Amino acid sequence: MAALQSDTVASPLAFKTTMDFAYGVPRAMAPGVARIVANNPSPYTFKGTNTYLIGINSIAVIDPGPNDEAHTAAILAAAGDRKITHIILTHTHRDHYDGLAALLAATGAKTAGYGAYAVTSDTHARPASAGEGAHTERNWRPDIVLREGDELAHGDWALTALHTPGHTPDHLSFALRPIADGPRVLFPGDHVMAWNTSVVAPPEGRMADYLASLEKLMARDDTIAFPGHGGQYETPARVAKAYLIHRRMRDTAILEAIRHGATSVEQVVAQIYKGLDPRLVGAASMSVLAHIEHQVERGLLTVDGPLSLATVLSAA
Ligand SMILES: [Zn+2]
Repeated sequence: MAALQSDTVASPLAFKTTMDFAYGVPRAMAPGVARIVANNPSPYTFKGTNTYLIGINSIAVIDPGPNDEAHTAAILAAAGDRKITHIILTHTHRDHYDGLAALLAATGAKTAGYGAYAVTSDTHARPASAGEGAHTERNWRPDIVLREGDELAHGDWALTALHTPGHTPDHLSFALRPIADGPRVLFPGDHVMAWNTSVVAPPEGRMADYLASLEKLMARDDTIAFPGHGGQYETPARVAKAYLIHRRMRDTAILEAIRHGATSVEQVVAQIYKGLDPRLVGAASMSVLAHIEHQVERGLLTVDGPLSLATVLSAA
């Protein structure tokens, strides 16, 4: 699950919605990096989930994608006679995780990722129509548990894990060890994408974490990013900064809406996301609730009891 379209608030973001690809066909993105797009397009996943193959003589797969026989077959075909030694997850949203079992069965690779996590927020945001990929696997047990700064290397590739929670608690981005004069490649997963904003939906999504994770990327000097959905983009630090500014503007707009009389998430969404695709109202509501949770944490709003879509809102 990735993103949320439509936005009437003035924004520093310029979405990049073009993407050169054909389903099932590997595309060389950088030395030792190929991408295969899964055929699971939706308002949340754009053209589909991106699977990346890393390495030259042996392969690590970043994000197996959805449970789709054709996609798994395309990954195996792209690897050819090169062994897939590792399967790495940026996070366990269904559209990234569900293809793991089939790829694992076909390869016997080692799995790597953040693994099991606990959710501490008692905010309840999820409407029944939250869309595909909305649920995460909270109890995944990878062979290799990765935390901030951990290195994972094999053969001719090496990755450094960056813990970037916010979209989900278990979300990792990965920096590829550069080869001489090569690009400094970042795999930001669903944390920062060029085609749209990332969904931050409580209780798994947490706005305070998301903003801190944007600042983490802003402090880096990566030159190109290959995200979980949509095409690549340059200067990830600058893109992360634009998203941070966007979120601050959104935060202010939500607070203003409540101060001017909006008393429910539904009313805030109606005011802020004018002309929203009805299929995305659920996602917009979750995003608004994530901002509200962050405002409550900062003492800008007061609410009675745990937050939910039914909470009555009033400014502090
Ligand atoms: Zn996701």
